[in-house]
Formats: sequence, structure tokens, C-alpha cells
Amino acid sequence: MTTVTPTLLREWRHEFHRRPETAFEEHRTSARIVEILEDAGIEKVTGLGGGTGVVAWVDGRHGGERAIGLRADIDALDVLEANDVPHASTTPGKMHACGHDGHTTMLLGAACALAEAPDFAGRVYFIFQPAEENEGGGRVMVEEGLFTRFPMEAVYGVHNWPGLAVGEAAVHDTAVMAAFDVFRVRLTGHGCHAAMPHLGKDVVLAACQLVNQLQGIVSRETPAHQTAVMSVTQFHAGDAYNVMPETVELCGTVRCFDPELRDHLETRFRQAIAAMATFHGLEADIDYQSRYPATFNTPAHAARCAEVLETLPDIRRVHRDLPPSMASEDFAFMLQQRPGAYIWLGNGEDSASLHNPHYDFNDALAPIGVAYWVALARTLLGNGERDAP
Ligand SMILES: [Zn+2]
Ligand SMILES: [Zn+2]
Repeated sequence: MTTVTPTLLREWRHEFHRRPETAFEEHRTSARIVEILEDAGIEKVTGLGGGTGVVAWVDGRHGGERAIGLRADIDALDVLEANDVPHASTTPGKMHACGHDGHTTMLLGAACALAEAPDFAGRVYFIFQPAEENEGGGRVMVEEGLFTRFPMEAVYGVHNWPGLAVGEAAVHDTAVMAAFDVFRVRLTGHGCHAAMPHLGKDVVLAACQLVNQLQGIVSRETPAHQTAVMSVTQFHAGDAYNVMPETVELCGTVRCFDPELRDHLETRFRQAIAAMATFHGLEADIDYQSRYPATFNTPAHAARCAEVLETLPDIRRVHRDLPPSMASEDFAFMLQQRPGAYIWLGNGEDSASLHNPHYDFNDALAPIGVAYWVALARTLLGNGERDAP
């Protein structure tokens, strides 16, 4: 048994923060998760999600067949930490800049607390998922059979949220995070002397026009009541004053919520590039990858989460009307398979933003997150005498 205290949560969190590991390489993180689970006598399966994922479970003392899943992501980012704190990253160029050290800590805290007092019916699964950032560890876990191997009726997630005060939460009825696609386009023309551009085919001019053209897809073709972002984030061409380069490479990302709009944006993106390439006599090579779908809560499950939050003494306010974020989340893959909800818990109004080198998960949030998970499990699973929806 492990008795969870704010001090213990802080120790765990600082330890995870000091040793950040990125996608599918979370070996020490995973080993520490296992150690904490074993110390608390909690059953688990390791080696999931490509190797570093862990699923643990606690059975309630009232029997019962029902089961729910609570999920935390455990990976860090390729960011050089700028914080000067004792628990700062000891791995240069990697840091927990998205607070997944806190997510891991809160889920471990909930597992230990529920193992110590399993006053519910059924089973709670604790899903420790690798590689949330960019690489879709959530998809890998789903594809390798998360929900067949560990049957559960619903699944729940949490993200700490900068800008919201500690003690505030946000619950969305449906869309909460956007879909996430990335692209890389290489235009190949004909390099030449910059003083004689008529002898070549100018990829820089074509790429500049293309950047403008793409913005029209969002501003002129996307209905104003829908939301989309198409951002060109990289533009690589040339390396001399007097040489027209042969190639240019553009990279970027596309975000939206509606699946039909997502298809439309990709189609029009490809058409815009093909047309521009034809006009300028260029060859175009397009690598367009659909990464994460949009994250949609199930309204009934979101409502239960909000009800549970309202009962917690340390939660002062539950926002029910915040707009969704244009950032993305691979928990979307789990919510495609099971109903559930992904909520935001305030990391502080003065918190650095997610992925910023000054970001640090707020230790004051950890006990609140544990209290939420524990209350959610107890409320949803009940004591076996009544059937919680
Ligand atoms: Zn992130
Ligand atoms: Zn995150």
C-alpha cells in the first residue's frame, strides 16, 4: 500500500521532470511507473504501445463486471528547458514542456489511492501511454488491442491547462481538440543565374504565390461558422545571392474539427499545388500525412465529469463554454473506440504556455487531479447497488 500525499506527488513529479524521455523511448519513465505500481501492490501489464506503455488495474471490493479506463500520457518534448529550478531536466534538449510528468503523477496517485480504498464496484484501468507528442502512441495502443485485451466501457483523459487558474476546470460537450495533419511539399524547377531568370524556372516565386493561395482555402472556402488553420511553418530554398535555386521545400500543419472539412482541405491543398506547379512548369512532390483526428467528447460522459468536478472542494469553477483548442491530442484515437471525455484542469493563470521552454507543471494541481480521478471512478462505478450510466 502507498498512501498518497501532496509531498509524495511532488517527489514523483519532480523525478519525472528531471528525466524526460521522448516518443517510444520512455524506458526509465516506464520502469519508474512499474516500480511505484509494484510498491503499491497494483497489477499491471508492461511492454505495451511499442514497448514503454503500461496498463494497470484495481478491482473494487464490491465485485461487478463493469470497467472504465483513465489515461495519462508519459512522454516529453524536444525542447531545451529554460527553467532554473532544482528539478529541471538533466537531459539537454529534452523536457516535460507539456506537463505529462504531472499527468503520469496524477494517474499514479489515483491508482495508489484507489488501491488503498477500493470502495467501488468493477474495475478501473490505468493507461500509461507513450508518445502522445506527434507520434501517436495512443493509436499504437488502440491498434495493438487495448480495448479487447482490457475491456472497458468508457475512457477518460485530462490535460493541465495554462491560463486557467488552479482550481478551475473546463469540460466540453463535444469537440475539445482539433484534428492534426502535416505536410511537406517539394517544388523542383530549373536553377540558373539570378541575373537571367528567364533561363530557369523560379521555384521561389511559385512557392511565395503558393503560400498566399493556401490562405485562400481557409479564408474563402471554409464556412465562417467552421474553424480551420493552414499554417506554412517552414520555407527552405537557395543558399547564394546570385543563384536561382532548383528546389524549394515548404512544410506546415493543418488543423480543423469537421471530418468532411478535413478531407476538403487536403483535396484543395493538393489541387492548389498541382495547379501552381503546372502554371510555373515545376514538378511537385507532396507528402501529406493525416496524424490525429479531432478529439470529441461524448456529451453524456462529459456531463458526468462536470458533475464530479463540481463536487470537489478544491474546484472553484467548471467552465462549460470555452472554445475548443486548435492543438491536438492522440487521446482522440481512444475516444473513437469508446465513449468518454477529456477535460482540462487549470495549471495557473500565470503558467507559461504548453511547449514553452519556461513551462512547468504546477505541483498544486497534482492533488486536485488525483481527487478528480478518484471521485470520477467512484461516482461512475458506484458501489454495485445502482447502475451508474
Ligand atoms: Zn504537448
Ligand atoms: Zn500534452
